[in-house]
Amino acid sequence: MQVHSFTAGAFGENGYIATCEATGATVVVDPGACAPQIVSRLATAGLSVQAILLTHAHLDHVEGLGVVRDFTDAPTHMHPLDRPMFDALGQQAAMFGMPFPELDPPEEELADGQVFTLGECSFEVSLTPGHAPGHVMFVSLDAGLALSGDLIFMGSIGRTDLPGGNSQELFASIRSRVLTLPDETRLLSGHGPETTVGHERVANPFLVPQYGGELA
Ligand SMILES: [Zn+2]
Ligand SMILES: [Zn+2]
Repeated sequence: MQVHSFTAGAFGENGYIATCEATGATVVVDPGACAPQIVSRLATAGLSVQAILLTHAHLDHVEGLGVVRDFTDAPTHMHPLDRPMFDALGQQAAMFGMPFPELDPPEEELADGQVFTLGECSFEVSLTPGHAPGHVMFVSLDAGLALSGDLIFMGSIGRTDLPGGNSQELFASIRSRVLTLPDETRLLSGHGPETTVGHERVANPFLVPQYGGELA
């Protein structure tokens, strides 16, 4: 599996495309402000988009959804627990003084433990609430990586002060779904640089007790 990241916008959000190299099957993950770059890469490389996957329904992760949908008819997949937040995108945009175009809701619902097949590769959907109620990660143990959304970042963790956020749930998600992955697993998150489970286990100040954290 090959993964490319794209970053843009006021929130510095990372969007991704993941491709099964053997078949060319491709998914777009979290098309935020970087969506025009994603679409241009898809067009140049001639990749066939199988699906658009959303880790959660915050504005910065979906603001470019319309741009990708103009390029492909591939269905959008999201966990249903984030649907109320998707339906409130207008309010999210108003909070940041941003205009927001009407978006049709995601066509497909993701479920915890679901295996999403991408050519000869696959992702397991891992429900990881805390930053948002229906937040999911897309984990590929074969490829040694997780597209981890806004759950955990290099040296930081997802905020829990937005509607639907819950810090106990966030820590439980990190403990049970991130720290249980092999140390070498790459974490490709929604903001900031790539990191690994092993690095965050020993260096993330929110997790390591000697730095005041609660886990690891
Ligand atoms: Zn978010
Ligand atoms: Zn974000």
